[in-house]
Order: sequence, then structure tokens, then C-alpha cells
Amino acid sequence: MEKIDMAIIGAGVVGLAIARELAKNSSRTIAVLESHPRFGRETSSRNSEVIHSGLYYPSSMLKTRLCLEGNRLLYDFCRDLGVKHFATGKLVISGNKEDEDQLEVLIRQARANDVAVEPLNKIQIKHLEPLVKAGSGFLVPSTGIIDSHELMQALYYLARESQVFFLFHTPLLNVQYDGKAYLLETPREQIKAEVLVNAAGLGAPRVAAMLGLDIDRCGYRLHPCKGEYFKIQRRFPVKHLVYPLPGPMSLGIHLTIDTGGGLRLGPNAFYVEDIDYMVNEEHRREFFQAAVQYLPFIELDDLTPDFAGIRPKLQGPGEEPRDFVICEETDRGRPGLINLVGIESPGLTSSLAIGRYVKKMLDG
Ligand SMILES: Cc1cc2nc3c(=O)[nH]c(=O)nc-3n(C[C@H](O)[C@H](O)[C@H](O)COP(=O)(O)OP(=O)(O)OC[C@H]3O[C@@H](n4cnc5c(N)ncnc54)[C@H](O)[C@@H]3O)c2cc1C
Repeated sequence: MEKIDMAIIGAGVVGLAIARELAKNSSRTIAVLESHPRFGRETSSRNSEVIHSGLYYPSSMLKTRLCLEGNRLLYDFCRDLGVKHFATGKLVISGNKEDEDQLEVLIRQARANDVAVEPLNKIQIKHLEPLVKAGSGFLVPSTGIIDSHELMQALYYLARESQVFFLFHTPLLNVQYDGKAYLLETPREQIKAEVLVNAAGLGAPRVAAMLGLDIDRCGYRLHPCKGEYFKIQRRFPVKHLVYPLPGPMSLGIHLTIDTGGGLRLGPNAFYVEDIDYMVNEEHRREFFQAAVQYLPFIELDDLTPDFAGIRPKLQGPGEEPRDFVICEETDRGRPGLINLVGIESPGLTSSLAIGRYVKKMLDG
């Protein structure tokens, strides 16, 4: 049996950021277990790749604090390591007078969170983005886009340089706590670790359940929520990300620019039972109708299915949004276990801040 100090389950962007942070200036032995043959094959490579500003949620929420810190850390990290990114800024817009109250609420929330925003009228929006149709809105300069694969690649190399072992093709099958350490069962070997970090994304409740935690009592049950994307085939000169007003389950079908300059619409949001990443072509019209409101230049035939991701949502149908769960489980009889559950958007933006948060939790 291999004995190590720390095991991390999951090599998504969150597991990678935690591994890199825990290994920095440390002699601890750390292993990352990942079912797939490579890092970042699930949610971390199936998202909008937006560096969020942290404007949408109340200041008291952990996801707000981690997003604000993560935004700054991510821009610095990208500059220092040459990870492809662009500080595009984003426009949040409304089409009609009735929505202006909601815009006001968002502007107030942004300011309460210390996120700089610039309110804009119709003419100012036309000046910034001549192709976009909107009644009013605001600009968020700190929003940007990132190549998530390059980010994960950089985190992976940094962690490996700090002697983190990556065990790919290695699903965690079971795990037990013997009162002192965690005994991890994998198809290849048994591993004993004093600290266990569960960063398994959609698989996190399953890992928690392996350790005897009742996921319903803990509030760890996930409600997977799919988001599909459609590509806009033709190129148009749009410089900012463009977001409509958010809905109860998501930020709405928005326009993002990928780091190659292509335009993409999405994601929509609907709850699913199974994890499958197919894009339903029949949703093309739904995307077109949502986007043509503010992008009158697009035509139905411009849209082609791109990809889909699945949000690890704690918020069930009809429920209020939930915060990230990052919990050290001593109170539940599992000292040294940290569960990360419900790390949906803005988890990519927050990843470096989550790494620091977990390190502080373990040091503290
Ligand atoms: C549609 C969509 C759009 C989004 N847009 C944005 C955005 O624009 N900006 C932003 O900041 N965030 C965004 N997010 C959120 C962001 O993508 C996630 O918060 C982030 O990728 C979560 O990373 P993770 O490492 O926790 O999960 P994952 O990437 O899912 O990684 C978990 C890993 O654990 C592995 N695993 C699971 N179970 C086991 C096991 N038993 N044994 C071994 N390995 C296991 C999986 O294979 C996987 O690789 C979006 C998410 C979605 C779905």
C-alpha cells in the first residue's frame, strides 16, 4: 500500500489549482486521482471560458468572495505564465423599459461587491458595439475570456514540478476512514492518505457517500443541469461579451467570444438525469430567438451545434441559488476530509482562490 500525505480526487481545474497550491513550497507527498486519461475532460473544458467579475451574487456568499479574488489572481497568473486570455469586458443589456429595474438591481449589487460598472444608454451602447441592439445596459470592464485548456496545462505543469503525482485512468472505487487516515481503493493499488480533498465535480456526492456521509442530510445532492452552446458560423466584428438579464437558473443565453475570435451563443439551462454531452439540434430555434433580440444581424442558419457542459448544481428545480460548499468534515467525524460540492459557475474564475482557501483551511 502506498502511503502519502494528501490525496485529491479529480483533475478538473479545481483539483489542479488545489494541487498546485498545496504543493507550493512544501515537502508533502500529494497525489491526484483522475478517472480519465487526462486532466480537464469534464466540466472544466465544457464551459463559457469567461473570467467573471463577481457581480451577480450577494457579497456575503462564498462564491462571490472567491470569484472576486479569483478574477484578480487569474489575470495575474495568465500574464505571468503566458496563458491566453483577453480582458474583453462585457455588456449586460436590457431591451425594454420594464427590465430597467432589474438592471438597476444588478448595478447596485455590482457596486456592493466592489465591481466597477459603467451604466450606458442606448447611444453609448451603439457607440461601443454598433451591431448590438439594446435599450440600456452597463459595461463591466473586469470580465474577460480565457483559454481554459492552457490554464489547466499551466497548473498541471506547476503541480508536477512541485512533485505532485498524477494518477490518470484511476477512478476512486471506494474509500474508508480507519480513524487516522483514508484508505483509497483504486483498480490499480491501495493508497493511504491523511488528508483527502474531494474535488470530483459531478462525482463529488458519490465520493462523500463512500465515506458514509448522508448526502441529503448534508445538503450535498446535486441536480445536474445541462447547458448547450451553438457556434455562430459567420464572423462579425463584436468586441465585448454580451449578456441579457439573468434568469433564475442561469445568466441567460449570452454571446461570448472564444480566444480564437469565434462567436458562440449559450448556454441554455435544463435539468437532466444522465450525463451526456450531445447538443440537441432542435434547440437551434430557441437559441436564435433568444439571441436575435439583441443581435439582429444573425440568421437561423448561422447557428451550428457546438458543445455542452453539465452544471453540478445544488439548486434543485424551483429552488433558490445555492452557494459553493467547501467543507472540512471534522464535525461529521471525518477530520482531514474536505468536500467541494456544487462548484458550478464561477468555478473556473474562482479556481485559484479556491486553491488558496483549501490550503488555509488545512493549515488552520
Ligand atoms: C455550461 C457551463 C458554463 C460555465 N461557464 C463558466 C464560466 O464562463 N466561467 C466560470 O468561471 N465558470 C464557468 N462554469 C463553471 C466551471 O466550469 C466549473 O465550476 C469548473 O469547471 C468546476 O471544476 P471542477 O474541477 O470542480 O470539476 P470537473 O472539471 O468536473 O472536474 C472533476 C474531475 O473529477 C473526476 N472524478 C469524478 N469522480 C471521480 C472518481 N470517483 N475518481 C477519480 N476521478 C473522479 C472527473 O473525471 C473530473 O475530471 C461553467 C459550467 C458549465 C457547466
